[in-house]
Amino acid sequence: MALRKILIHPDPRLKKAADPVSAVNDDIRRLADDMLETMYDAPGIGLAAPQVAMMHRMLVMDCTKEDDATPAPMVLINPQITWSSEERSVYDEGCLSIPEQYAEVERPAEVEVEWMGLDGQTTRERFDGLWATCVQHEIDHLDGKLFIDYLKPLKRQMITRKMQKLKREMARG
Ligand SMILES: [Zn+2]
Repeated sequence: MALRKILIHPDPRLKKAADPVSAVNDDIRRLADDMLETMYDAPGIGLAAPQVAMMHRMLVMDCTKEDDATPAPMVLINPQITWSSEERSVYDEGCLSIPEQYAEVERPAEVEVEWMGLDGQTTRERFDGLWATCVQHEIDHLDGKLFIDYLKPLKRQMITRKMQKLKREMARG
């Protein structure tokens, strides 16, 4: 396993739709392992492949919150939302590609998602609470959409300018 470099917004790769995964092979299995390691190391609760510059429709997540809880790593390949609740919920969202910036985003409170697992099998499951927000946030990444795209233009521009400044500072070292 290896840590992958997480792209920081703004980056054209974060704005592009990713390609469906046609088959689970060794490259995909290795990428899933690396993405989980990178997510836990960050630390974060979700990571989509485009965030590590791999334009595949796959994501990893683990929204178990308690420090002593058993990790529940999930790998979702070609995930699709098949149902969303009318009830909505608001979470203060953040993103590993937009470090230290948080904003409230409203989304369906519950979703049903269908995906392919690393074993090639199709699974369908309902998510609620933080898991529902997280899976929708990560699926957005696969369509080139960021949580700041839900914010008012002024707030979005403010965050983008902060990230441009952060990237300049990172480039200088
Ligand atoms: Zn994100």
